[in-house]
Amino acid sequence: MDTLQPVIKTENLNVVYNKKTSNEFWALQDINIKIYPKEYIIFFGPSGCGKSTLLNSIAGLETHIEGKVFVDDKDISTMNEDELAAFHRTRIGMVFQVYNLIPSLSVLDNVTLPQVFLGIHKGERTKRAKVYLERFGILAHADKIPTELSGGQQQRIGIARSLVNDPKILLADEPVGNLDSVSAVNVMELLNNLNKKEGKTLILVTHNPEHLVYANRIFYIKDGRIIREAINKDIRPETAIEEVERTEEVKKLGFEEKINKELEMLQRSFPGLTSTQLNMLLIPFKAKLLANYLLSDYEVDEIIRIENIVHDRLSGRISKEELRFKLDAAYEKGGAGLNSITAIRLGGVVENLIVKTEIIIKGRGGKDGLLMKNSKQGQPDFKAIWSQITQLRHSFIDPMKGDLTDRQIIRMESAIYNRLIGDFDKKSFYEMLDRPFEQGGVGLNKATAKKITRDLEMVMLLSYGF
Ligand code: ADP
Ligand code: MG
Repeated sequence: MDTLQPVIKTENLNVVYNKKTSNEFWALQDINIKIYPKEYIIFFGPSGCGKSTLLNSIAGLETHIEGKVFVDDKDISTMNEDELAAFHRTRIGMVFQVYNLIPSLSVLDNVTLPQVFLGIHKGERTKRAKVYLERFGILAHADKIPTELSGGQQQRIGIARSLVNDPKILLADEPVGNLDSVSAVNVMELLNNLNKKEGKTLILVTHNPEHLVYANRIFYIKDGRIIREAINKDIRPETAIEEVERTEEVKKLGFEEKINKELEMLQRSFPGLTSTQLNMLLIPFKAKLLANYLLSDYEVDEIIRIENIVHDRLSGRISKEELRFKLDAAYEKGGAGLNSITAIRLGGVVENLIVKTEIIIKGRGGKDGLLMKNSKQGQPDFKAIWSQITQLRHSFIDPMKGDLTDRQIIRMESAIYNRLIGDFDKKSFYEMLDRPFEQGGVGLNKATAKKITRDLEMVMLLSYGF
């Protein structure tokens, strides 16, 4: 097999249950991933997010599929039953949380079972099975029935069985979910060895963040979508990395547009709702956006936890102080487990954006819609509008070193105004801030212009719906 090609590839994969009924449910949406030979991949996310569905789709066990799934360049949705069965016997091994062992068969017979279907004769079957039983320290129990062994031992039987036909790909769905912590570490190490020493491509499903260190790459899944990809140690071929980075960039652009569309849709779907009610519906989106914003600069494993904490802050369930405390608190205690400096910094960024957001909301006099609706008898209330713009400008400029001249300030305020009423889009706003003063711009340096643009976009989204 060509090691430069992905072993597994999905193209616009959706899994939709009860399609076109009132129960229609999208368990997976828009999944495009490529997995390369010898990678250790983790699908990570909360319970119900679609991890098992994705693993089963790759295994050819999911029937509600739209889009394509390639394994070794073969589209498995085009396989007939026989081909699929052969594929299962030889190409992939599967390990489950519930060990799926046959209770009436001996340990040895459980492990040899997959070879029976391949027509391998008994002597050879036993020989191969015993190699794994020995390696996994359970050979002495070969003649017992599975339930006579501990959970950790039973899982090792399950893994031996998945390996006995020597598949190149191993799929493991919460394989240590039922084990005590000592057995869990033991099984995790065993799986790690199969990947590192024998070069098995390993895909592990887990919701336990302690497992993340093992993987080369991690796909974070939430509500059926891949929300993030983190890289611990990249072992993909270089050509693949370049390609992925490019597509990531394209995706990022699409993401903001998508969110904007979702906000619009929400407003259209619930025209009768008050702005307060609408805002409640938007909080999860906002939390997601704000978490992405906070975490885009560096690697943090706890994105989902942080998102939940930010959610609590946006909905007013926790205070400014509690936000910092929770970002800092240990993972086991419901915190995000960040170090104190990072927690204080992120907490500060969130509070700073909330303050700016409140300026916009107050400036509108609590009314819905754009700034221009801040009006008396159909006439814009320029005084109210300008006081808001001035406050916003202060909040952006004051923390910066170096003063702006009066004429720079006027241009800056007019740029903010134009952006808020929609006459400027994000790009023209940025260009206005960045352009040299002599050419009619505000004349900020690129980094500052970029940061203010990014902040203002975030603040506009956060204030949406109030
Ligand atoms: P995870 O493994 O991440 O806990 P799953 O992949 O098992 O999540 O399930 C994802 C979602 O799909 C869940 O909300 C689950 O209830 C739903 N789901 C799974 N199977 C079906 C089905 N046959 N019909 C409808 N919904 C389903
Ligand atoms: Mg599952």
